[in-house]
Amino acid sequence: MPELPEVETICQGLAPLIIGKTIAAIKSSGKSLRQPVPLAEMTAALPGQTIKGIRRRAKYLLIECGGLLIIHLGMTGNLGLFPAKMPPEKHCHVRFHFNSGDELRYRDSRRFGRIVFFPAPFAEAERQFFATTGPEPFACDAAWLAAKTSGMQAPVKAALLNGTLIAGIGNIYASESLFRARIGPQRATASLTMAEWQRLLAAIQEVLREAIICGGSTISDYVNAQQKSGCFQMNFMVYGRSGQTCHQCGATITQTRIAGRSTFFCPQCQNAPE
Ligand SMILES: [Zn+2]
Repeated sequence: MPELPEVETICQGLAPLIIGKTIAAIKSSGKSLRQPVPLAEMTAALPGQTIKGIRRRAKYLLIECGGLLIIHLGMTGNLGLFPAKMPPEKHCHVRFHFNSGDELRYRDSRRFGRIVFFPAPFAEAERQFFATTGPEPFACDAAWLAAKTSGMQAPVKAALLNGTLIAGIGNIYASESLFRARIGPQRATASLTMAEWQRLLAAIQEVLREAIICGGSTISDYVNAQQKSGCFQMNFMVYGRSGQTCHQCGATITQTRIAGRSTFFCPQCQNAPE
């Protein structure tokens, strides 16, 4: 499932390919994603409009084009630019056809993704859409996180995954960040000291930056805008490594379940007394 680094990689890859292009038509497979594709609304507003910008917020891509397209890739969604004359693949569900003879294709085999469209002016709609989304990890502050979570008894891993505390972090980067910060994923969130929050936030930012440089992580089918895999999975210390040896201390990586998600940690490295 694409998390912040994967969505950021797609965003950076798509920007030079689509900014400045003019939308001529929109085509859909007719199949629903997690919710129906707003084909009628997009068809009414978008033809003739030029793509002005693309950015990321949390795990969403935001495309400004005389309205605002908000795209979530779900589990298996991806976006890429293809020649319009190339026949669409089986799982291609939406095609934004450009005057230039190519098209932006949204492909998604499991169809858990989501496309939302807000006609202009969209600033207020965007604000509401992200009203409960936490701040971006790079714009976060350890003291704010500590204050916000005082009294929160849920495991810290669950708090990181939730998205309302801090945006964009999923199972992979929560696991890897907690390992790097030497904090057990099952710790009650409110029990983290200020020093631990500082360590954890620094670890989150470091892991995300490194993952963006690696073009994200490819576990199963994630590819970037150029249809290439990421390589940060080569650097995993705990994620997906249960039963294997900790690269740092030699203990066995353990797997448990937190908030319904597989959670991997080193019982020795992540049990450090403060
Ligand atoms: Zn270890």
